[in-house]
Amino acid sequence: MKILSVNAGSSSLKFTLLELPEEKVIISGNFEKIGLPDSFYSVKYNGKKDRKETLLKDHTDAVKILLEELKNYKVIKSYDEIDGIGHRLVHGGDKYTESVIINEDVLKTVESLVPLAPIHNPANLIGVRSFMEVLPNTPMVAVFDTAFHQTMKEEEFLYALPYEWYQKYGVRRYGFHGTSHRFIANKMKEILGEDKKIISCHIGNGASLCAIKNGKSIATSMGFTPNAGVIMGSRCGDIDVGLLPYVISQTGKKFDEVMNDLNKKSGVLGITGISSDMRDVEEGFNNKDPRCVTAMNMYANKIVDYIVSYNAKLEGADYIVFTAGVGENSDVMRDMIISRLNFMGVKLDSEKNSTRGIKGIISTEDSTIKVCVLPTDEELMIAKDTYDLINK
Ligand code: AMP
Repeated sequence: MKILSVNAGSSSLKFTLLELPEEKVIISGNFEKIGLPDSFYSVKYNGKKDRKETLLKDHTDAVKILLEELKNYKVIKSYDEIDGIGHRLVHGGDKYTESVIINEDVLKTVESLVPLAPIHNPANLIGVRSFMEVLPNTPMVAVFDTAFHQTMKEEEFLYALPYEWYQKYGVRRYGFHGTSHRFIANKMKEILGEDKKIISCHIGNGASLCAIKNGKSIATSMGFTPNAGVIMGSRCGDIDVGLLPYVISQTGKKFDEVMNDLNKKSGVLGITGISSDMRDVEEGFNNKDPRCVTAMNMYANKIVDYIVSYNAKLEGADYIVFTAGVGENSDVMRDMIISRLNFMGVKLDSEKNSTRGIKGIISTEDSTIKVCVLPTDEELMIAKDTYDLINK
């Protein structure tokens, strides 16, 4: 079966066409700057990447071009060959604990959750509606970033705030990156043959940790929004909210501008003033740029805070798993994190850790918690959910 996995943002649309159950990627691509004069898209096929400049008025335009390109690249002859489409939806609130077939009710519910994710959900919905317009009879599935974390206990997801804020307005920790953490949980079970206690560290441009027990999320570092927990590329993660009125009064900035700063100008970009990309920050660190050194130390420290906390919540983790851009590629950051855990007997095999493109165990034989690198695959997870639901 051919399944299209889609991730629509406010001005972008990423797609991957996969063959299931073989789990084979056929073609993938990315439409960017939709609605802007310099819009373009790229397509990856057979190890080659083609970039094409074209005016993409809106998402429907992108969807039409995408489908035409699938024919041009001869991966399909007719649109009927697309058996299902899986959409990444950011926020399912406490309404969705797993993926669902999209129907009018689901669309209404996701719409009702827009106040919880005012930027992401509308963009995701535009993606869904654009595909519905062009392919009205193709089954579609919603895969929520929040769903995996719905197994957290109330004592884990509540904030110490007036309880009616939760009851009336849904103010609580939701957690995100659920599709990635679930992929890690499932893949580890597939590899090990049983559920182990896992601390999943999804550290990319966005970053979150998740404590997984019996295949379920019991704690995660992102919160009511994705800007909570560890330090990210340009997001601050955990801060003291009391600083907000002070910053507003001192800078004269409006609340929205400050919120934008917390999301787009903070994190490692904010600390270094150089870049949100860890490759650049690592280069600065190697050149002993003081702010890059501070940023790298802060970044590692914060992840360690969560690992130690989750180790306690799990009553002793079996595995620490590194995934996503930084987790999969930065041996330097992995080393900085694990060296801070040496005191509890967690140790890296430095040769394995520094092997380029390493996948699998990178800890020593006697490490008290095994450490491994496992590339995440959210697109595959979305496609698998879609395949499973349309075959039910
Ligand atoms: P993701 O959000 O998972 O796509 O991760 C993207 C981020 O991974 C980039 O912004 C970089 O910060 C980071 N990254 C990718 N490759 C490397 C690398 N070789 N070393 C350090 N960081 C990397």
